[in-house]
Amino acid sequence: MAEAARLMKDQTMSAKDILKSFGVAETAFTGGDLKVHSPIDGAEIGALKQHNAKDVAAAVEKASKAFAEWRVVPAPVRGEFVRLYGEELRASKDELGRLVTIECGKILSEGLGEVQEMIDICDFAVGLSRQLYGLTIQSERPGHHMRETWQPLGTVGVISAFNFPVAVWCWNSALAFVCGDPVIWKPSEKTPLTALACQAIFERTVKRFREAGHKIPDGLSQVVIGGREVGQALTENVHVPLISATGSVPMGRAVAQVVAGRLGRSLLELGGNNAMIVTDSADLDMAVRAILFGAVGTAGQRCTTLRRLFVHEAVYDKLLASVTKAYQAIRVGNPLDSKTLVGPLIDKASFDAMQSALKQATEQGGKILVGGDRVGSEGYYVHPSVVAMPKQSDVVKHETFAPILYVMKFKTFEEAVALQNDVPQGLSSCIFTLNVREAESFLSVAGSDCGIANVNIGPSGAEIGGAFGGEKETGGGRESGSDSWRNYMRRQTQTVNYSSALPLAQGVVFDV
Ligand code: NAD
Repeated sequence: MAEAARLMKDQTMSAKDILKSFGVAETAFTGGDLKVHSPIDGAEIGALKQHNAKDVAAAVEKASKAFAEWRVVPAPVRGEFVRLYGEELRASKDELGRLVTIECGKILSEGLGEVQEMIDICDFAVGLSRQLYGLTIQSERPGHHMRETWQPLGTVGVISAFNFPVAVWCWNSALAFVCGDPVIWKPSEKTPLTALACQAIFERTVKRFREAGHKIPDGLSQVVIGGREVGQALTENVHVPLISATGSVPMGRAVAQVVAGRLGRSLLELGGNNAMIVTDSADLDMAVRAILFGAVGTAGQRCTTLRRLFVHEAVYDKLLASVTKAYQAIRVGNPLDSKTLVGPLIDKASFDAMQSALKQATEQGGKILVGGDRVGSEGYYVHPSVVAMPKQSDVVKHETFAPILYVMKFKTFEEAVALQNDVPQGLSSCIFTLNVREAESFLSVAGSDCGIANVNIGPSGAEIGGAFGGEKETGGGRESGSDSWRNYMRRQTQTVNYSSALPLAQGVVFDV
């Protein structure tokens, strides 16, 4: 009964109610010049004060002090903190998921899924806190031990995009915290409210951790609010050894150059242009379902969204008939309504970019089979579009962050793989086939050149256990599972001489 009442309450909670329920002071999201609008109806839901370069420098100084304290806390104790953060997220899932939907427009099920992803990475990081393994190495010198140890790195600057406003920060911060690093987060200027919420949940966790008798420094997690200039101040600061940046390719190019200029490290998660190959042996029903979620989920605003579909000529007409029929049944509308599959685009610029891409596609010989038109006049809602292209022309090679699926025909498997790889981006890819030779060839050295390659699964919706990221213009970074934690630590090779002689490596003699 109490649960039902709570859920009922959630359904009427505004962004302001949710922020207040997390303990965020109203002054933190009112009276400032950074206006935040909900893409659901364009209403203003926040006006935040922005930070400047001086504030960023002060945050970095505070983080450096926090680092000196946090790095000496044993990693499993740091893991206990992340365990508590995961518990707090579990308790806040409904409200935070709803805030994600209100602020970035993804449907509620995906908003909740994003918070679940945060919980999953916390669980992963807790286990990891006892597994930050190094190596022992055989020494060529008698009486010597060699080993490789991983030490905390220092302050991590996280710059995130609007479309995954909370999960990306958590992928970075849960690992950074167990690795012994503080985090300064510059969220997207389009979605800063969810960052305030995450920070409030963080502060609540700090309180619990302290009440349990543990020490944790102030400034372990900080949020800086603003646009590109604030991000730039963070990337330029030599006391931030790692910048983890998620966003468009032009942003990544700018960040990479600044960070490389000061010989820092960057971890880049940039744009994708993801493809599916459907061969003549494919289970077409499964393929249609995967195409639908891949191409229209999050209104086509995922880095892993399916944007290019290569279909074998023998099944092209049949598959396209099913895809266009399925598209006509998609419900576009308010993302808080459980029947909606496609919510709004983030803003007008996004809508304009979609219209421009559709115009270019028709100029390049494409035929719009379905969608592309605006729905209603409040917010920027669109019918997702499918465009049949005669070839992979320029517009297809460009990532337009909107629900446009370009479809092309192929004759041979080799031709399909070559087309799939012939774009500047290299994030996610997949093949639908029941032919084991095709499946394994797709995953072989001569197959997909992407960071993610799937068989009989669409390109989006990755689990946190694997390393996430892509090649080429996608930036080469890897976040989340597997051994991505190594990004947040520095490697040290250690040699201990426990003998009474001092032999030199490679047999060098150097005696006085
Ligand atoms: P964006 O590039 O416009 O902004 C991303 C972030 O970078 C924002 O916080 C922005 O303020 C900041 N920024 C912009 N220029 C900067 C600069 N010169 N220095 C420092 N910071 C700067 O991206 P967006 O529109 O928010 O997100 C959509 C893009 O993000 C798409 O291209 C999408 O594919 C990509 N993305 C990639 C991944 C991934 O994991 N590969 C995940 C999500 C989104």
